[in-house]
Amino acid sequence: MPTTTTPVAAAVSDARRLFDSGATRPLAARTARLKALHAMLTENETAIEAALWNDLHKSAGEARLTEIGVVLAEINHTLRHLRGWARPRRGPVPAALWPARARLLPEPLGVMLVIAPWNYPVQLLLDPLVGVLAAGNTAVLKPSEFAPATSALVARLVPRYFPDGAVHVVEGGVPETTELLAQRFDHIVFTGSGTVGRVVMRAAAEHLTPVTLELGGKSPVWFDDDARLHQAARRLAWAKFTNAGQTCVAPDYVMTTPDRVPALVDALRVAIADLWGSDPRAGRDYGRIVNERQFDRLVALLAGADVVIGGESDRADRYIAPTVVTVPTDHGRPAVGPDSAHPVLREEIFGPVLPIIAVTSAEQAVEVINGWDKPLALYVFTSSARTRRLFEQHTSSGAVVHDVGLIHAAATGLPFGGVGASGMGAYHGAYSWRAFSHLKPVLHKPLRPDTLRLAQPPFTGRGLRVVQRLMRRG
Ligand code: NAD
Repeated sequence: MPTTTTPVAAAVSDARRLFDSGATRPLAARTARLKALHAMLTENETAIEAALWNDLHKSAGEARLTEIGVVLAEINHTLRHLRGWARPRRGPVPAALWPARARLLPEPLGVMLVIAPWNYPVQLLLDPLVGVLAAGNTAVLKPSEFAPATSALVARLVPRYFPDGAVHVVEGGVPETTELLAQRFDHIVFTGSGTVGRVVMRAAAEHLTPVTLELGGKSPVWFDDDARLHQAARRLAWAKFTNAGQTCVAPDYVMTTPDRVPALVDALRVAIADLWGSDPRAGRDYGRIVNERQFDRLVALLAGADVVIGGESDRADRYIAPTVVTVPTDHGRPAVGPDSAHPVLREEIFGPVLPIIAVTSAEQAVEVINGWDKPLALYVFTSSARTRRLFEQHTSSGAVVHDVGLIHAAATGLPFGGVGASGMGAYHGAYSWRAFSHLKPVLHKPLRPDTLRLAQPPFTGRGLRVVQRLMRRG
């Protein structure tokens, strides 16, 4: 009976055929593919910027810095270090097994699936791809259906720059992703919400496929930097309202002491005007909400909130002004999480709304953070080294960042990822290469001299004692 192959299954089997041929393994082939990705980005910069403008009203400057530039930096960093990473290393052999030699031989995993969200639709699709190709794998990419211009552009460009099928693109939403997830992959990199992360992990379990889950959550901020108030507030506002707050590592809520709230609100007002003008809507540098569904969700979060900056919105334009709200402390209920009294504190905001919660002290802020899911990032704005240490040592999060937001995501030498509910595994630079490779130990114990005899039956008292003594040395 003839079998029908769907485009999804065909993409996966084509990627597997190429992987099985061995064509992606040589270092020169990996380097060539990284250069092809570099060329795809630089030769089509204008088209990519236009797509990002269509999808998210993302300015060309922001597109260059936070999307194209981040991936180019990742490629250049990887090209610089790949030879060293990929070199087989000597592995240690314990004395009880001497004489023997061991090496650690890195090998690619196979065919990888990369599923991306819509908020940084270029960066979050192609940054993982850098590590995937560097490690010698092939890939199937699934861009987000909610960034349709970028998705269509990537689907058009990829076959041109990867004509041998090392990279395939499957466009679509839930049905296409569900079909993809039914296929067997050798690793899945998923960036998105915890809800869909669970769907991905369940599907991966069917094939025992390992996953890297880059999820989200509420990233908190502690703010008590009175001495450098305006400079710090400007950095906080920039981190929050870039891409209209639709950033996984955007500061989600700010905690400070009650006496500091008025000055912080004033400083944020000045900073927002400084960064995006007195009417952010009129400028080209302020983003829009991705679609009506997200717009309606965000506007509903504002209902009944105490708006102290912004609050204006326009559904037709999907515009929500940079908005700051203050939230009274609610004794007896958790400040943050599904049981909070305030809608803005119940779920990840993922938009341009910044709540300020007044807490009595940095210690109380630590309790708030530890009262719910481990966040993806924690930001501390303080001039006190003691306060910095307090947060570093008494909370757990994907990363801790002092005096600034977001930029750790662009630090190619650092692992990027969450912990607990904010994700599983990490990538970027060497960490991508490591996560997407298998470090295979290759051990050789020559047949002569046959010291293994001492550890084989029939056991003699003396031989056994020698082996045991050597084993105790470790
Ligand atoms: P999402 O989880 O809704 O979607 C992500 C991807 O999953 C999309 O490609 C989508 O098509 C697919 N998908 C959606 N529903 C599915 C289903 N039922 N079955 C299979 N696939 C499905 O996330 P989003 O709305 O695109 O992005 C927002 C979330 O992503 C936020 O929680 C944010 O914090 C998180 N995020 C995390 C990072 C990070 O690096 N850790 C970066 C950006 C966004």
